Amino acid sequence: MKITIIGGGPSGLYFAILMKKLDRTHEITLLERDGPNDTFGWGIVFSDQTFSYLKDNDKKSFAAITRACQRWDNVDVVHKNQKVIIRGNKFSGIGRLAFLNILHKRCLDLGVDVRFETNATDLNELPPYDLLVGADGANSFVRGAFSKEFQPSLDLRKNRYIWLGTRQLFQGLTLIFREHEAGLFIAHAYKFNDTNSTFIVECSEATWRNARFDWKSDPETCQYLAEVFKPDLGGHTLLSNNFVRWLNFPLVKNKRWHHKNVVLLGDALHTAHFSIGSGTKLAVEDSIALAKCFKAGNDVEQTLAEFQRVRKPIVDEYQDAAYASLVLFENAQKELHLDPIPFAYKLMTRSKKIDYENLKQRDPEFIAAYDSWKAEAEGRGQTPEVSGQRSEGRRQKAEVRSQKAEVRSQTSEVRVQKSAVRGQKSAARGQKSAVTGQKPAVTGQKSGARSQKPAVRQKTPGRSQKPAVGQKTAVRSRKTEVRSRKQ
Ligand SMILES: Cc1cc2nc3c(=O)[nH]c(=O)nc-3n(C[C@H](O)[C@H](O)[C@H](O)COP(=O)(O)OP(=O)(O)OC[C@H]3O[C@@H](n4cnc5c(N)ncnc54)[C@H](O)[C@@H]3O)c2cc1C
Repeated sequence: MKITIIGGGPSGLYFAILMKKLDRTHEITLLERDGPNDTFGWGIVFSDQTFSYLKDNDKKSFAAITRACQRWDNVDVVHKNQKVIIRGNKFSGIGRLAFLNILHKRCLDLGVDVRFETNATDLNELPPYDLLVGADGANSFVRGAFSKEFQPSLDLRKNRYIWLGTRQLFQGLTLIFREHEAGLFIAHAYKFNDTNSTFIVECSEATWRNARFDWKSDPETCQYLAEVFKPDLGGHTLLSNNFVRWLNFPLVKNKRWHHKNVVLLGDALHTAHFSIGSGTKLAVEDSIALAKCFKAGNDVEQTLAEFQRVRKPIVDEYQDAAYASLVLFENAQKELHLDPIPFAYKLMTRSKKIDYENLKQRDPEFIAAYDSWKAEAEGRGQTPEVSGQRSEGRRQKAEVRSQKAEVRSQTSEVRVQKSAVRGQKSAARGQKSAVTGQKPAVTGQKSGARSQKPAVRQKTPGRSQKPAVGQKTAVRSRKTEVRSRKQ
């Protein structure tokens, strides 16, 4: 079979590997607009579970990937200048470029014709194919070319984000909430090799405007954000690889996943907000699922229909979880009144994939601290977190329902998508990685942020539920535990 794949990200490369493994006579051409050492972003996280899939499907790339990974089991939540550590969450971090380079090598070893610096812009100029795969990311050209058939929806989310790096080494998935004069800034940070960490910052549109990022140069942007996160960065700067862009996360869905002998994979098909760290996992798992469908030996159209049938319910579930998660980050301001322990609990359970029982198994000490906080609050006749969670759960479910309804109103969305493609095109370009030679620094919450005045003040909800002195003691004793558990 002749297969043309557009896009050399995780989904396209992994699919090429699996199809070559399935049948060496497949003639596979992969077109990638960037060079082998260009990519966007810094490092990515995986849950360990993904790795079992990688192991079962291609042992060689699995071995190379695991060698290049950093591992940790803690999520650290920094709120009100205190760090709460939640253990038992198995993650691995890897540089996006290192990950792609491993897949490039496997493709080349298996005889895939990988053509770098080849931007596909015209369907009529593609190499001949029996199967065309659009693995060309969130702003997919293939999806655009078949928009009538795929019926995509694209929802540019409210918060702005920027994907930066730093030499400060965050030894775990670290979620940092800092109020600054312009408003609330949130960082998602983790180490992905011995010298670097990913540092993604998100904020609301209002905060972004207050900070006047539209008037700031790239170095000024990094400098400003380094000041916001000064207590977290241990004196390190924020890094940008010649490329600093604020984007709105595009939530992509498609009603139909295939048309005749054309199929979409990965971000071209669906995106999952970076706060659940599953986009690459989903992209790779799409490739695994599609290759498995081809193993059954049916014709191309039947195979693609089967792919959508088996895979879509799983992706829908992840997209729902990712949606609940992004909504919480978009509305984080409303939760800032919570003390660090209930705040961390809320964050950990935001996607509804992890609940109280899972957390108890993962980190009994954290749950003990949460229970004692809750008992004290209830002792005073207050059940702030529980009631808050219920209404939050209802609100999120309603948002997920309205999100699903949006998929039905396709036509205008496609128009939005086209303009988004123009606006965000440059985003997928450029960032060259590999900054080296930095010693690990000590992570520590210092008092710097105390002098930072929150400009957007928390309103009344929760004020009346503010933990009293006894409750603070519980938090403090947890803080002591937390500190003594520092890596
Ligand atoms: C800020 C941020 C943080 C993230 N963090 C994580 C994380 O921690 N963990 C995780 O699992 N996921 C993460 N993701 C998601 C992850 O990056 C994507 O889900 C994943 O890369 C999707 O893989 P893909 O192969 O489908 O698409 P992409 O990785 O986007 O690859 C598409 C490729 O197609 C190429 N291309 C595009 N158009 C053309 C064209 N016309 N012709 C030729 N080539 C083309 C592009 O250059 C690119 O190389 C994050 C995403 C963002 C935005």
